[in-house]
Amino acid sequence: MAQPSDIATALIHHPYRPAEGFAATQPGVFKASTVFFPNMAAVRSTKWTDKSGYTYGVHGTPTTYMLEERLCALEGGLYCQLSPSGLAAIAHVALAFLRTGDEVLIPENAYGPNKALAAGELSGWGIRHRFYKPMDPQDLAASISPVTRLVWLEAPGSITMEFPDLPALVRVCREHGVLCVLDNTWGAGLAFAPFDLLPGSSPALGVDISVHALTKYPSGGGDVLMGSVVTRDAELHRVLQLTHMRLGLSVGANDAETILRSLPSIALRYAAHDASARQLARWCQSRPEFSQVLHPALPGSPGHQAWQALCKAGPGGAAGLFSVMVDARFSRAQVDAFCDALQLFKLGYSWGGAISLAMSYELAAIRSDWPSALRPGTVVRFSIGLESAADLQDDLEQALHLAFA
Ligand SMILES: *Cc1c(COP(=O)(O)O)cnc(C)c1O
Repeated sequence: MAQPSDIATALIHHPYRPAEGFAATQPGVFKASTVFFPNMAAVRSTKWTDKSGYTYGVHGTPTTYMLEERLCALEGGLYCQLSPSGLAAIAHVALAFLRTGDEVLIPENAYGPNKALAAGELSGWGIRHRFYKPMDPQDLAASISPVTRLVWLEAPGSITMEFPDLPALVRVCREHGVLCVLDNTWGAGLAFAPFDLLPGSSPALGVDISVHALTKYPSGGGDVLMGSVVTRDAELHRVLQLTHMRLGLSVGANDAETILRSLPSIALRYAAHDASARQLARWCQSRPEFSQVLHPALPGSPGHQAWQALCKAGPGGAAGLFSVMVDARFSRAQVDAFCDALQLFKLGYSWGGAISLAMSYELAAIRSDWPSALRPGTVVRFSIGLESAADLQDDLEQALHLAFA
């Protein structure tokens, strides 16, 4: 066909193509809903399911395939699917494996929105849920019934930071033949290996599926929402792929590229967050305003031994989060005043970014029983960013002085 005469068509079908072979540090950002096929035979034969081809943006692009492969390397898995947020990745797993009549078990100290998903959405589909005590593998074993299909694990618990005996919980799931899925956002593939919890053991003891809120350390910027679901099991992955396709859980190429940009520094950032958090947590232990400091790497913190057994065997990491229990003699208004007086620490949800965050929680509203390992008081959680730990300590000190003097 001759060159089209209309400029609209000529702009769309312009013959120039950039040269192949452009090589640079960062991958290209490939954006697509439509992907072209050379002919109808290719339409029929192209498979996105094994990443050997492209069919439609939602099923993958060079950018998202690359991010998926890097996340497999990070977590020690073989297959990965991306979702628009960490919570969407949690929902992806739930909707892939749970059916009417099934039951899901969730640790009582789990990430709150995972519990809300079960109570508010899954229950409407006739999927039951139960909360188990993650610090007691016997309680998990006793909670499993013939209709239990899926068990969530999380280490450490959200806000209260209890570190469970993950290998023991995984063994309970194995013995009962139920799927075990870890929310690995805190471990991030760096504190321990989710698919190889006891390095050297054969066969490997690991979770079936690892879910990761990439929003946190993989992004590292507090600016992108994304989640991943990683597994080593081809059959589980096949089920996850079908649900992912049916739900249309696509992610934006610019967001995927932002995470690819941040991933090479994740180990350095994680270690820096960790070192500052431990230093500040130890300092908080010396403060009379706090009756307890909850950080799994601190002796005396709930689950410290389980953390030591799992993480010290690996790189020994502990992320950048810890909580303090403000002594019960102080009022909620005083705790609010302490949070408000912080200058470098900002008030906000999430973690994993360069800016330190603080947030006070109403524990009684998020846990059915007051955790036995916790003193009475008001919980404040800190996410330690990348500022100097000395400056952060000064900030905590001035706010303590203002609010509690
Ligand atoms: C933040 C977080 C999530 C959810 O991630 P979003 O991207 O914010 O939806 C899930 N689990 C844990 C442990 C988290 O900290």
